[in-house]
Amino acid sequence: MAQEDRHGKQGTLLPPALVATLAPLLGDEVNALEAALNTPPPVSIRSNTAKSLLPDAPLVPWCAQGRYLPDRPAFTFDPLLHAGAYYVQEASSMLLEQAVLAAGLNGAGILALDLCAAPGGKTTHLCDLLGPDAFIVANEVDGKRRAVLSENLWKWGHPGVAITGRATAHPDLLHGLFDLVLLDAPCSGEGMFRKDAFAREQWSTTLVEQCAATQRGLVAIAWQALAPGGVLIYSTCTWEPAENEEQLVPLMADGAEPLGLALDPAWGVERTHVRGVPGHRCYPHRVQGEGFFIAVLRKPGTRTPRTGSTPPAAPPAPVGDWFAAPEAITLTEKDDIQYAVPARWAHTLRPLLAKLRADAPGIPVAERKGRDRAPHPALATNALLAPEAFPRIELCHQDALRYLRGETLTASGARGAALVTHQGLALGWVHGAGNRWNNRWPAMWRIRAHAPAAPPVSWAADVDR
Ligand code: SAM
Repeated sequence: MAQEDRHGKQGTLLPPALVATLAPLLGDEVNALEAALNTPPPVSIRSNTAKSLLPDAPLVPWCAQGRYLPDRPAFTFDPLLHAGAYYVQEASSMLLEQAVLAAGLNGAGILALDLCAAPGGKTTHLCDLLGPDAFIVANEVDGKRRAVLSENLWKWGHPGVAITGRATAHPDLLHGLFDLVLLDAPCSGEGMFRKDAFAREQWSTTLVEQCAATQRGLVAIAWQALAPGGVLIYSTCTWEPAENEEQLVPLMADGAEPLGLALDPAWGVERTHVRGVPGHRCYPHRVQGEGFFIAVLRKPGTRTPRTGSTPPAAPPAPVGDWFAAPEAITLTEKDDIQYAVPARWAHTLRPLLAKLRADAPGIPVAERKGRDRAPHPALATNALLAPEAFPRIELCHQDALRYLRGETLTASGARGAALVTHQGLALGWVHGAGNRWNNRWPAMWRIRAHAPAAPPVSWAADVDR
């Protein structure tokens, strides 16, 4: 509803109940916040550290791989997005980087749980921040959103990821297991008012109460899942104390140690202390990003460094030959798909993922085709793949878009599986049938829209790969 706002300009007013919540936090600045929420949102992306491609654009100051773009390009029509080279993410959420630094977790490998993971913005960030030796269980309760999460995680290409939808239904299985739990909780979405008109429309005090009730259950599960000395990162895109600090009060009573982020005052992120809980808030009139809350709490106790298990024998050919380090993975099979788990995690995770009936108990690497095995689309973009295992076909921008629409490619003498690349980055598979390459890009992932008249993403000319 457009109306005359408190500054006398055209804009959309915040609900009075929300203004009442914000007043003790912001004082007179509520007007500035309201004005900022009526401006266009900044556009930002975060590049994949494993794929070494950074646009020549201003840095998101709290995230080494984050960049602001001058306008909103037609991302769908950039093949590099489909290669997992970057993720389109609003900048405040990238504060996760500072939270992981504050957690100070070190050791040979971190076992992490992302309890509310879809569509995967923060999971992909965790993959980069925790490094290739970490393993991340990404949980999402909503089936449709879980499909998007799988697509995003598989394109990103971290080797240690499993996807489940039932972790919150079986909290006892998770008990005391994880070094790090991220709870990016479902919330009333106040911080998304500028980006998402629906968030504004659906907001009500009843919604805040409902979200707070859901969050209470999720916080209890997250805390229980942590090992002694493990770290909880709690975040929302709302400013409500009921959905933020009040959720964490019981953990403080349980001996949680709050950890502060190392913030440069120039960033504009606010350090807060509400209901005795230290937190960090982003407001769109102060930072170049959306509304966000994040807090980091360490569970009492001493963390035991993980030792990892003894690697088993390498998987046999042909699948075994597809991996850069076959001796470092173990394979399990479910519904005619083989999944790879780094060998050091197999002993800890296999029983858990089986009991949770994980959708993806590892990275899917091969699918049964009659008596043969074909490489799975997720293997194409994953760090597990041996670079020389398959012939490579480099496609120009136009041909890459044809491939992503599901078209076949003309060829002569085409035989077996080959890897399609664009600017040197793997996209997916084709299968040779003499005078053509049959397309193996998943039907669910195909580009169906027509290219709009929007600018392309402009990447730095010199790419070092
Ligand atoms: N972390 C995600 C990211 O950065 O892309 C965004 C997560 S979103 C704020 C919250 C997610 O929690 C939604 O995908 C929602 O479906 C999911 N969710 C809602 N209730 C849940 C529950 N009880 N257990 C697990 N996930 C839940």
